[in-house]
Amino acid sequence: MADQKFVLAGVMGWPVAHSRSPVIHNHWMAQYGLRGAYVLLPVQPENFEAAIRGLPALGFAGCNVTIPHKVNAMKMMDFVDPVAKAMGAINTIVVQPDGSLHGYNNDGFGYIQSLRDAQPDWRGDAGPALVLGAGGAARAIVLSLLNEGAPEVRLVNRTREKAQALADEFGPRVKVLDWAERNDAMAGVALLVNTTNQGMHGQPELAVSLAALPEQALVSDAIYIPLETALLKNARLRGNPVVNGLGMLLNQARPAFKAWFGVMPEITPTLRQVVIETF
Ligand code: NAP
Repeated sequence: MADQKFVLAGVMGWPVAHSRSPVIHNHWMAQYGLRGAYVLLPVQPENFEAAIRGLPALGFAGCNVTIPHKVNAMKMMDFVDPVAKAMGAINTIVVQPDGSLHGYNNDGFGYIQSLRDAQPDWRGDAGPALVLGAGGAARAIVLSLLNEGAPEVRLVNRTREKAQALADEFGPRVKVLDWAERNDAMAGVALLVNTTNQGMHGQPELAVSLAALPEQALVSDAIYIPLETALLKNARLRGNPVVNGLGMLLNQARPAFKAWFGVMPEITPTLRQVVIETF
């Protein structure tokens, strides 16, 4: 269409070459017949503020921000969405018509949506959740589970103080346990989530026993390389429903694409395949 706008977006990080976001967004642009480009924006920390401030002048609709800029970017925004504020980090910037910058964090949305894609009737208030890990992914996941009405989130991290810091921030529904208690803590949960890097390609497997886990509990892993971690395989073999981390990765991109391009995109089997082929 001759009158259709050419929309520019990208992902700003350092390093950023590994990002799958260009594959995802450029796939959707082609699928929906939109004109634009989503590019890698390798920006060193010392140049980050200048790069962010340059977005409106360059005509960008916005960008994703990733490591190491996710926390720093918050203070450069004219507006930060309350969910992102609670998470303490943004992953999406939307340039407004007047050139001001709005920051969002869609990781929690992506996580919850990935559970709903696997189990359409999934409910956050179905029972306690056990979250392993207390890093960046855990922040987004714990907060989104609380927002979905989880009655209790048991939080277990190798470094207990980091879990305690999250609990202090997020309130009394978050119960901190020792790393050594992680297997016993599975009793009676409706959801088990791994947000540690254990089980990721190049890392050792997550050392857990699922003996105490109810058979109907949903088991999810934030990891997407490999698609089936040892945790998910063991859970599947004993009959638990499982969700891998690919759905979170793909779903977090959807609200950003909607904000920049005006279309809420769908996750198709073809998109999944295109992304899996980059692993
Ligand atoms: P992070 O902030 O660096 O946190 C890493 C977590 O792993 C911490 O809780 C850390 O515990 C724990 N850990 C590291 N080594 C461990 C060990 N040997 N034993 C037990 N725990 C250990 O990383 P992140 O950004 O949260 O990412 C975590 C995982 O989530 C990664 O695999 C990442 O690929 C995945 N992720 C997926 C998505 C998605 O869209 N699917 C999004 C974000 C992240 P300590 O505090 O004790 O160090």
